[in-house]
Amino acid sequence: MTSLQELPQVQNCAVSSCSYNADSACHAGAITITADHAHCGTFVEISFRGGLDRSGLVGACHRSDCRHNDKLECTAPGVQVGPGADAADCLTYEAR
Ligand code: SF4
Repeated sequence: MTSLQELPQVQNCAVSSCSYNADSACHAGAITITADHAHCGTFVEISFRGGLDRSGLVGACHRSDCRHNDKLECTAPGVQVGPGADAADCLTYEAR
């Protein structure tokens, strides 16, 4: 992983209650997946919608036990986010 352009896209996000979500797509600039059951740490419910006019990227991932994780960055081609153990989890997580 050498540049921002190589960061994986959030291909789909099923968490429609998130303020960054529109039409099942993530519009945060970049999300952070936390170590706690691959929870999306960027998930937020506020009374208005926000984000950018493009799909979000995975900026950082603390889930070092995932086979796609390399030095706390995600190397998957893209990720899916949706309800898992919590309201918003990385569903692309795979144990090593
Ligand atoms: S696929 Fe694995 S490394 Fe990539 S964001 Fe999800 S949990 Fe992190």
